[in-house]
Amino acid sequence: MRLMKPKIRLYVDEPLGQGQAVPLSREHAHYLFGVMRQQIGARVALFNGRDGEWSAEVVEAGKRGGLLVCMEQTAPLHMPPDLWLLFAPIKKARTDFIVEKAAEMGARRIVPVQTEFTNSERIRQDRLQAHAVEAAEQCGGTFVPEVADLVKLDRLLSDWDPERQLMFCDEAEVGAAKTLASAKPGPWAILIGPEGGFSDAERTRLQGLSFAHVVSLGPRILRADTAAVAAMTVWQQILGDW
Ligand code: SAH
Repeated sequence: MRLMKPKIRLYVDEPLGQGQAVPLSREHAHYLFGVMRQQIGARVALFNGRDGEWSAEVVEAGKRGGLLVCMEQTAPLHMPPDLWLLFAPIKKARTDFIVEKAAEMGARRIVPVQTEFTNSERIRQDRLQAHAVEAAEQCGGTFVPEVADLVKLDRLLSDWDPERQLMFCDEAEVGAAKTLASAKPGPWAILIGPEGGFSDAERTRLQGLSFAHVVSLGPRILRADTAAVAAMTVWQQILGDW
């Protein structure tokens, strides 16, 4: 029998398990009882990125807080494949889009990178992390990818673990027949450049890395946000969990 899943899903920090009591934050209490009009006895789905998904019952409901108790597990933890998405932050709304889609598409880690032609020198890591949580809440995921702090591409490549292969999406290869066809499974990362593309120096360095695979995303130049989704689609289909 399929368990009836509650419709409302919330991400919490607390551990989840049989009989585990979970106190609600002020924001969650406001959302559950103020906005969604839930009452004592209602069921809510909880996940924390570690313990799978649990159906929890409301046992206390207040304006500023409340308490839930975990009743049964409704889904085990499903880890996405070991795929990182590296991307150069662009305008705010498009950066938010990339983080949201990466969480939905099953990236395990999201890494904003500063390349030579990246406009923004700063990101709001906490805000991007909140977007990843929201995406996981909505898409039924039990895992939330970590959003890393902005790191310079140079630094990232110098510290790189060569066991992790890199799908270097290079706009200079537009239309070329360069695919992941001969690529092997394992830990991977996808690299998407900024609106201005990669510099010649970056391209030369990336092409020379033993762990890098230069890939074309077809005969059209895609915007960075489109390219991120397209690259994850291709990777998931060939090497991931689709
Ligand atoms: N301004 C650049 C395009 C940058 S597109 C130009 O006109 O050349 C932003 C990023 O999306 C690129 O850095 C690359 O990582 C990716 N991308 C877009 N289209 C691509 C394609 N056809 N093949 C490979 N990568 C692509």
